[in-house]
Amino acid sequence: MNPFVYQSLPTRVVFGWGKLSALAEEIERLGARRALILTTPEQQGLGERVAALLGERAAGVYPKAVMHVPLEVAQAARIEAARLDADCCVAIGGGSTIGLGKAIAMDSGLPIVAIPTTYAGSEMTPIYGLTENRLKKTGRDPKVLPKTVIYDPQLTLTLPAQISACSGMNAMAHAVEALYAEDANPIIGFMAEESIRSLALALPGVVNDPNDPEARSQALYGAWLAGICLGSVGMALHHKLCHTLGGTFNLPHAQAHAIVLPHAAHYNREAAAGPLQRAARALGGSEASEVGGLLYALNQKLGIPLALADIGLPENGPADAAQIACASPYYNPRPFEQGPIEALLTRALKGLAPA
Ligand code: NAD
Repeated sequence: MNPFVYQSLPTRVVFGWGKLSALAEEIERLGARRALILTTPEQQGLGERVAALLGERAAGVYPKAVMHVPLEVAQAARIEAARLDADCCVAIGGGSTIGLGKAIAMDSGLPIVAIPTTYAGSEMTPIYGLTENRLKKTGRDPKVLPKTVIYDPQLTLTLPAQISACSGMNAMAHAVEALYAEDANPIIGFMAEESIRSLALALPGVVNDPNDPEARSQALYGAWLAGICLGSVGMALHHKLCHTLGGTFNLPHAQAHAIVLPHAAHYNREAAAGPLQRAARALGGSEASEVGGLLYALNQKLGIPLALADIGLPENGPADAAQIACASPYYNPRPFEQGPIEALLTRALKGLAPA
């Protein structure tokens, strides 16, 4: 057996249908009295609902979270938190809203209660991101890891089916890459496999009936496990390519993840044959060589875009992205090779199956 290091994350997790109702109790548990509630402008109504639920313990709703946490937005939110004398943040929404909570925590140390309403996984990670002059910087800081996470699948019912599917495949990518991470370990391996199995089972059900409570619960459970994977071990080629595509071409985050994943997994099929065989089995197959095809077939079944061209990647995208990714590669079981990476991105550009 290979030696390994395993460090568990100290976040308290409350999971269950309707569990938003446990929020006041969870805030009390933290010893906090003045919660600043963070949302995007689109989810302000949900923030108001949370404020009503908290009564006197709500210091205010700040509905200004946007994608990628621009520094000016973070600074304005930090000022608002100080002005309202907040002693904790409740971040209710997707990765953008939780990212804003992290930006406040980084500066002030305020504890975060995260209530995720997508499958992106930020709530389980000590990773923060801040965008300054159009450049996104990310880092790790234990201060930004939420103290408590409430997973209430009921809150995901309003996430449109197509966005749910892409967001779920974004989570799937964390689990797949955790299996072959440089610092992979047996516990995270179990969680990754269970995550892949749950998401593969649940997402077609979510697309088929976005109001199906069982499918929604199973999908959020898979996303929780995927978030732990992301927060615990390093990511590889797939995440590097998606960060490059997002940063350089401004492609939508979850959609880019969904499209690239089959191709990135296929690229690693021989170098990470053991880990990817586990992924293949969790997806209903048996061999590592099938994993790209299985993921591609799942995307087809979900009816989500298959071509990077359809979400805004230009013709020159594959060559440029391959060059940028290879200039500062992440760890990957198979070394970054510019030609084959450009080839895989070209197939992804056109929406072809991995080959
Ligand atoms: P998002 O948070 O940007 O949300 C997208 C849109 O969907 C927003 O308008 C939001 O209000 C809306 N929305 C969210 N939940 C909804 C629901 N249940 N019903 C209706 N609308 C809903 O999207 P995301 O994919 O969750 O997050 C992406 C961002 O998170 C990126 O910036 C990414 O880099 C970051 N991220 C960070 C980490 C980390 O560990 N730091 C992990 C994953 C993602």
